[in-house]
Amino acid sequence: MTLDDSLSIHVPKSDWPRVVIIGGGFAGLKLSRSLVRKKFQVVLIDKHNYHGFQPLLYQVATAGLEPDSIVGPLRQHVEERKNFYFRMLNVKQILPEKKSVATDVGELEYDHLVIATGSKSNFFGNKDIQRHSFPLKKVTEALDLRSQLLQNFEKSVLTKDIRKREALMNVVIVGGGPTGVELAGAIAELRNHVLPQDYPELNLKRMKIYLVEGAGRLLGAMSESSGKNAQAYLEKFDVSIILNKLVQTYDGETVKLNDGTQLYTTTLIWAAGVMGNTVKGLPDEAVERSRYLVNEYGQVKGYEDIFAVGDIACLKTEEHPHGLPMLAPVAIQQGKLLADNLERLREGKSMKPFKYLDKGTMATVGRNKAVVELPGGLRFGGFFAWIVWMFIHLLYIIGFRNKFIIFANWFWNYVTYDRGNRVIIRTYKPKKNRDRKTEKNPPKDGES
Ligand SMILES: Cc1cc2nc3c(=O)[nH]c(=O)nc-3n(C[C@H](O)[C@H](O)[C@H](O)COP(=O)(O)OP(=O)(O)OC[C@H]3O[C@@H](n4cnc5c(N)ncnc54)[C@H](O)[C@@H]3O)c2cc1C
Repeated sequence: MTLDDSLSIHVPKSDWPRVVIIGGGFAGLKLSRSLVRKKFQVVLIDKHNYHGFQPLLYQVATAGLEPDSIVGPLRQHVEERKNFYFRMLNVKQILPEKKSVATDVGELEYDHLVIATGSKSNFFGNKDIQRHSFPLKKVTEALDLRSQLLQNFEKSVLTKDIRKREALMNVVIVGGGPTGVELAGAIAELRNHVLPQDYPELNLKRMKIYLVEGAGRLLGAMSESSGKNAQAYLEKFDVSIILNKLVQTYDGETVKLNDGTQLYTTTLIWAAGVMGNTVKGLPDEAVERSRYLVNEYGQVKGYEDIFAVGDIACLKTEEHPHGLPMLAPVAIQQGKLLADNLERLREGKSMKPFKYLDKGTMATVGRNKAVVELPGGLRFGGFFAWIVWMFIHLLYIIGFRNKFIIFANWFWNYVTYDRGNRVIIRTYKPKKNRDRKTEKNPPKDGES
């Protein structure tokens, strides 16, 4: 196939209906893989040319895994077919009246549009926290955090100022959900087992890891017993847990909590909230709390030809009156059903409603420790839960090569107490130095 310059984004016209999918995350990728086998022209658009496995971002950030092992190239992960086109583009606007999307290099028309743009960090309007903290939603953010953590230890060895040294070594994690808990466990493991070999000069007992949570317990989306177990495991790893407190301000070195407590760190990790990654162009009535309101078929409120799946979709059910949880299984199941429903539509049949099959939730808390909750009320923690956690993550990660590399890394880390990726390949520069206009023109929510 050669490029035809007369065509918009080099996508030829087809006798089959064109489905444009924005986003190659869990939902968009599942949908694309299912839809290419049917009579549709499938155009998958993503800002990146890879699918990122977000549940393991924290392991990249803490030098447990290399970034390549948790991503998969989108062009390779959809079966090669003549009806499939991948374009690495940023969709800037949806133009429903023209049935097209505007990208950074032009417009593309669609017969059906699927928005699968996922979510981004929510800083709740606090620009200072946004500017100085480390979010963890993208692979590039995980690499920034990894560089920051490692650079800080190198700087700690060089400074004579004790307070500065402690601020460099300390880490404050905000948000006691699975991401915060998993990060806290992984950083504690680094401090307790790995860093002492690298930095014998440093007194790592003085390195504090704080996990700050606004509610009265950890893992609010799981049961109270799982929250308590996670807290007990983290305390055993010497993580300081601060409950019922909110971070009010952060200037890059001092974290102020709402009770006046001050913590000193140059690394504040923001795991306290996410919001939908909406695209300009649809009316406000179609959006609630930054997610597109969809019916049980995934159709965005007010449209028959525009669908939303995954984190960006807000499907309210009796059990989830504010919308289904932002989880990978929801995104995968919605992507799969939408492929079938689009085919049913094409054949003039009625679509099937979405029913979320909850397969359970889990979080790991470092070496040998995890909590698992299965549907039907079965809950367990400890070593067996940790094995289950590893098995499920290996199952979901895309590509045999990635599964193999991750398993080998985990095995190596487990038996040697070592981590192979403690290198600063890409130096992290604080945002204030990278972006001189930030004071007057702070980044928008979710922008890094
Ligand atoms: C740190 C972390 C840990 C997590 N752990 C778990 C876990 O253990 N278990 C679990 O079930 N879930 C977990 N999740 C949630 C899970 O990752 C999400 O629910 C899932 O990724 C949602 O899939 P999605 O397809 O909706 O969006 P995403 O996977 O976020 O994909 C969205 C895609 O859209 C692209 N995109 C966005 N805007 C545009 C645009 N304008 N133009 C072009 N492309 C665009 C992005 O580049 C991205 O590739 C975790 C999330 C995070 C951040």
